[in-house]
Amino acid sequence: MLKYKKIIIASLLLLISILILDYFIRISLWWYAGIILATAGLLAYGSIDFRSGFYCKVLYKGKMDNKTIALTFDDGPDKSITPAVLDVLKAQNIRAAFFCVGHKAEENPDLIKKIDEEGHIIGSHSYSHHFFFDLFSSGKMFAELQKTDDILGKILNKKTKLFRPPYGITNPPLSGALKKMNYYIIGWGLRSKDTVIKNEELLYQRLTGRVKPGDIILFHDTKNHTVAVLDKFIKFAKGKGYHFECPDKFLGIEAYE
Ligand SMILES: [Zn+2]
Repeated sequence: MLKYKKIIIASLLLLISILILDYFIRISLWWYAGIILATAGLLAYGSIDFRSGFYCKVLYKGKMDNKTIALTFDDGPDKSITPAVLDVLKAQNIRAAFFCVGHKAEENPDLIKKIDEEGHIIGSHSYSHHFFFDLFSSGKMFAELQKTDDILGKILNKKTKLFRPPYGITNPPLSGALKKMNYYIIGWGLRSKDTVIKNEELLYQRLTGRVKPGDIILFHDTKNHTVAVLDKFIKFAKGKGYHFECPDKFLGIEAYE
């Protein structure tokens, strides 16, 4: 049973116990409010932090026995940034994972082919990456996942087994939608925050200051400054003795069916 269901059952049992107790001795309403608030807070935390594993099993770190790390890129493919990222990876001889948005893949099939032909792996990152994706019903989420699989499948002639939740949020509707899909859910150990940090030096400092063995690093192949920092970061990491592995090999999983 998933953790969030256990938490709901536990808090319901607690509420029933208090209700019974309330029959014999007067229990303050604050007890009820406290239990409900604590449960809601715990469930919200589980939604935001996929490492909790509340709603689904998320793979977010690789083997830590040597200095190995892996690179991932979300939200593409992008006409100008993705080719630049691919050039950096090719020059550095690194294979990475690209979690693509379905409608962008639909608009840029040649880029999807190029990512694949250059030895990288491709996963789904929903069809719309809608701002309110996390509020969608399970059925609507499932339709997005299927549509993206169809688009990627037609371009690549293979079915991806990798999915990264938009915004890294997991919740009961997504958990329901994912039950019907044969995915590995991939998170990250180090978030570059390249969508927020625009200053290249700050971004570089964040990455070099935080990287550790086992990290799956999240970048976005939609931001210009990411390309320059990526090249600099790879050189830094190699200089420190880090090895780069493709996320499928890093996690010991198959990227495609
Ligand atoms: Zn995203």
